[in-house]
Amino acid sequence: MDRTPLLDFDLEGLAAWCESLGEKRFRAVQLFRWLHQRGESDFERMSDLAKSLRAKLVDHAEVRSLPVVSEQRASDGTIKWLFDVGAGDAVETVFIPEDDRGTLCISSQAGCAVGCRFCSTGHQGFSRNLGTGEIVAQLRFAEHRLRAEGARADASGRVVSNVVMMGMGEPLQNIHALLPALRVMLDDHGYGLSRRRLTVSTSGVVPMIDRLRDEVPVALAVSLHAANDALRSELVPLNRKHPLADLMAACKRYLERAPRDFVTFEYCMLDGVNDGEREADELLALVGARGPAGEVPCKINLIPFNPFPASGLERSPNARVQAFAERLIAGGLVTTVRKTRGDDIDAACGQLAGEVQDRTRVATRLRPIALPLRHRSSGEALPR
Ligand code: SAH
Ligand code: SF4
Repeated sequence: MDRTPLLDFDLEGLAAWCESLGEKRFRAVQLFRWLHQRGESDFERMSDLAKSLRAKLVDHAEVRSLPVVSEQRASDGTIKWLFDVGAGDAVETVFIPEDDRGTLCISSQAGCAVGCRFCSTGHQGFSRNLGTGEIVAQLRFAEHRLRAEGARADASGRVVSNVVMMGMGEPLQNIHALLPALRVMLDDHGYGLSRRRLTVSTSGVVPMIDRLRDEVPVALAVSLHAANDALRSELVPLNRKHPLADLMAACKRYLERAPRDFVTFEYCMLDGVNDGEREADELLALVGARGPAGEVPCKINLIPFNPFPASGLERSPNARVQAFAERLIAGGLVTTVRKTRGDDIDAACGQLAGEVQDRTRVATRLRPIALPLRHRSSGEALPR
């Protein structure tokens, strides 16, 4: 008989399942706390549950942790885990300790079907969506592993204070599994994260931005990378379906319910591609009062490109990143440059590759691109 994987449930789902076994709903709260707050997987050790319930759990349920394939620790304290998710696929999770917080970067898919030019996950193609339990298991593992090691915790005993859905995959192309996972992370009986400290990053799946707003509004980051449609469509192919004007309008609608009063725009700085004065001015125009959706309250996070073999792209020199930031700041935008963390273990943004069976062959399908990207200064076509 198939056992029910309990990490797939948010609290509401677990309560309904408990009821289906003839148990009272409040039992679900106890069970949920054991699973998530205590990280317990052995039903026999859930000592305050009635013996009869424990017996039912042993017969009908299971807790599926993800097998760890490897753990790497960088000199700056960043940790990267590779988890086996079966059938030749593996996904990565990264913990980034900072003075005042611990951030966990979680994967939502094995691979990614969006196929952004500058992203190593995108170059690998797409295998499958992760389930709710597989998304939650990454946090559950990291939190309890780090606690057991005596990592620094906050007043409530929590080591992971922030979660960013910025690992492998496009979370809004897996919204079905994502929404319950976010609820588990937010639940006071689960991980008790605040909505402001839980960030979903998207390359711009416009209809799902609305769905996230309606169902589980958390902090929103949008991967922009270009402020004109021609260039953005080259870098982020999804832009052809959801162009910038629609994306900006969706961001504004999102802010009506968001826990923060701004959207974070991520902008990966690519040498000679999107890092000049003209592109900075386009960005200012896009989010300004005269932009397609009117002013979009935002913060800009510039990410120095992390190269990987086969990207054919290079990181903008620091001086250019600085000049770009200063131009945005002068134009009135709050702008920060992301510190690169964990690059000695390939744990930095866009370097997460895991191991993915490209079942849809997106990697090869996406190769032919309509317009060649040109190096502005030399006019030479960039290698693909
Ligand atoms: N699919 C989602 C979330 C995962 S990517 C998204 O695209 O938003 C997380 C962030 O890393 C995104 O902003 C992405 O654009 C950025 N990124 C991808 N590849 C990168 C690279 N090689 N160097 C720096 N940042 C990169
Ligand atoms: Fe997918 Fe995000 Fe990488 Fe683009 S940047 S390919 S959306 S993971």
